[in-house]
Amino acid sequence: MTAVTYDLLIIGGGINGCAIAREAALNGLKVLLVEKGDLAGATSSASTKLIHGGLRYLEYYEFKLVAEALRERERLVKAAPHIIHPLRFVLPHENAVRPWWMVRLGLYLYDFLGGRMTLARSRGLRKGDDAYTDPLKAGDRGFVYSDAFVDDSRLTVLNAIDAAENGAEIVTGVALESARRDGDLWAATLSDGRTVTARALVNAAGPWVHQMLAKLGVNSASNVRLVKGSHIVVPRLYDGEHAYILQQPDRRIVFAIPYQDGSTEIGTTDVPVNAPEDAVIDADEIAYLCDAVNRHFKAQITPADVTSTWSGVRPLYDDGASEAKAVTRDYVLELDTNGPALLSIFGGKITTARHLAEEALGKLAAPLDLDFHPRTRARVFPGGAIGDFPTFRAKVLATWPFLGETRADRMARAYGSLLPALMDGVTDEAGMGRAFGAGLTEVEARWMQSREWARTPEDALMRRSKLGLHMTDAEREAFADWWENADAD
Ligand SMILES: Cc1cc2nc3c(=O)[nH]c(=O)nc-3n(C[C@H](O)[C@H](O)[C@H](O)COP(=O)(O)OP(=O)(O)OC[C@H]3O[C@@H](n4cnc5c(N)ncnc54)[C@H](O)[C@@H]3O)c2cc1C
Repeated sequence: MTAVTYDLLIIGGGINGCAIAREAALNGLKVLLVEKGDLAGATSSASTKLIHGGLRYLEYYEFKLVAEALRERERLVKAAPHIIHPLRFVLPHENAVRPWWMVRLGLYLYDFLGGRMTLARSRGLRKGDDAYTDPLKAGDRGFVYSDAFVDDSRLTVLNAIDAAENGAEIVTGVALESARRDGDLWAATLSDGRTVTARALVNAAGPWVHQMLAKLGVNSASNVRLVKGSHIVVPRLYDGEHAYILQQPDRRIVFAIPYQDGSTEIGTTDVPVNAPEDAVIDADEIAYLCDAVNRHFKAQITPADVTSTWSGVRPLYDDGASEAKAVTRDYVLELDTNGPALLSIFGGKITTARHLAEEALGKLAAPLDLDFHPRTRARVFPGGAIGDFPTFRAKVLATWPFLGETRADRMARAYGSLLPALMDGVTDEAGMGRAFGAGLTEVEARWMQSREWARTPEDALMRRSKLGLHMTDAEREAFADWWENADAD
């Protein structure tokens, strides 16, 4: 095999690794990204799925983080309108937790930091807001404000697609096993047996960032705090497309958000853990989230109502703060130039990954001798060229009427303006190939295999889509059988 030297070797195919690969490839760098499992297989598919400034971070005076995240929110709703949509949040008032004036001031500030935003501004609850207040046990006092909802795993994959279309090599199911500095280059051994060389290394291993530094033989004074966050899913708690932000007696907040037509997601918790592999929900977290719902909603739930869960570990930069909920949510980029450059990423958010990538390339510009220009600020994500969603959706249904309302809506959201390429030559249901249940057909599964790096049935059913949640055990098994025997195009 001919030895290739990459400009940049990126470890980790979460949102941060993929966003850096995109910005780097668009700047003409020769990029290799290695992901040991699936793209977004760890934290980046386990978020609350909000594109938000983080209202509660105002309490910790993280004004810069909130302002930056709100700027990104505005960019992202325009750049990926198929997989990101605005969401109205109802914030019921809880005087015992936070006084009225404090919340009102916080929301003014949130709107102000959002600048010239396209999302609706905050306001108090008023007469006629029955759809917002009826599901609640007490009171019609409170507020309404805006943020946005995202398909976090698909946003990660869209970053990878854009990177690959601009020359990046994206390899999944391959771990970086070790790497050492060798003169001006990094020499890295991959789990597929390859040895590759690169002019710079990016450690975007998320919760594994510190373990990775040890593997690279690099001493760093920085540390990560691993904080687990879990979500539960229950049958829909209320009608309507709005979400709730519920204040808890411990001053934490818990979100209740419409999820996957017919369900509500509830999260999150904040539990310090020792290892990235501890991302598993426990009974106390389920009880905490059920209590949070039962304290506020007329509809009452028990752990028996939980239909699914997910947990992720936040890799937060250890800034010495004592409480898990108070550790900075901002990211820290650490550049080590004791030889060929190593950039390590600590923390971050789905919302700010693009901005993080821009800063990362800014830091790597000197060591790589790169004339860096940000290329992603106004760049539309693959599939994002849809204009107004209702018009696009209507066009999808008119072009492929056999998809039916539900499937047309789901596929329009998932693939946006890439849909004509996915549906190339398909004119009727028979052309969709084998049907696996929940609207999933062979055409779509093959697209995930050949265009979106899906390697396992779970990649397809739980990350490229959430269709696995709507299939029976028998359907999932039949799909897995087909997958094992199907060759990607
Ligand atoms: C509960 C929870 C809720 C959140 N909610 C939100 C939210 O609503 N909005 C928001 O903006 N942010 C949110 N976040 C934050 C956001 O999800 C994370 O900051 C972000 O996903 C981190 O991405 P990452 O790429 O750094 O890490 P990851 O997504 O964990 O990616 C790291 C990758 O590195 C890979 N890797 C590790 N070691 C190796 C190796 N040796 N070789 C190859 N690959 C390797 C892993 O397999 C993994 O895929 C939330 C986080 C949590 C935990």
